[in-house]
Amino acid sequence: MQLVFLGAPGVGKGTQADKAAVQYGIRKISTGDLLREAVRNKTPLGLEAKGHMDQGRLVPDSVVIGLVREKLADSSHANGFILDGFPRTVPQAEALASVLVERSLLLDRVINFMVPREQVVKRLSGRRSCPKCQATYHLEFAPSKNGALCDRCGEALIQRSDDQREAIETRLRVYEEQTAPLISFYEKQGLLTHLNGSEAVETVYSNLANVLGVPKTA
Ligand code: AMP
Repeated sequence: MQLVFLGAPGVGKGTQADKAAVQYGIRKISTGDLLREAVRNKTPLGLEAKGHMDQGRLVPDSVVIGLVREKLADSSHANGFILDGFPRTVPQAEALASVLVERSLLLDRVINFMVPREQVVKRLSGRRSCPKCQATYHLEFAPSKNGALCDRCGEALIQRSDDQREAIETRLRVYEEQTAPLISFYEKQGLLTHLNGSEAVETVYSNLANVLGVPKTA
């Protein structure tokens, strides 16, 4: 099964992708996670991406397309994949279409998660992350038991630079200008399903599972 998860930053698509990847036995490919890993490892790609990411801007298409092309060549995606945070521009969606043709694959569905803007801002501005094990928390909705420390590994939690107020505003503007056009792009292809992402994680997931159907492994 080949899926794309669309939606503004903070709609919870990464959380839903994690759950669906486990239940359906498919891989989650998050360009945000791949880029953050490259930044942490200070690879040439990471060094190029960092400035864009810190300010909430998109990393250039050529960089991200190359990254996804490389990941899709990996045979561990044989059962399928969920693309989380890719494509984010029309040229990325067109590049994805050609990679899929090259690999004789079809997209099964594109899920568009929708959450009101003020809720997204609240989710992103309260998010805290562990720089060591990458666990994420929320000051109000999912606080760490340890206060400012990670429950899993004890490291001091940080606020991602792109979760700071100004970067959040930029990310939401970039989403409206560059990513939202993908909704009609995929709607025209008959691939799009809208899901309300503002409910509890388990409720959203149960609606998602209804759309995706019974896992083959169940
Ligand atoms: P995310 O974790 O998906 O919100 O991504 C974090 C940041 O990584 C974004 O704000 C962008 O700077 C960069 N990024 C992630 N995916 C893409 C993409 N498909 N195209 C361009 N930049 C991306």
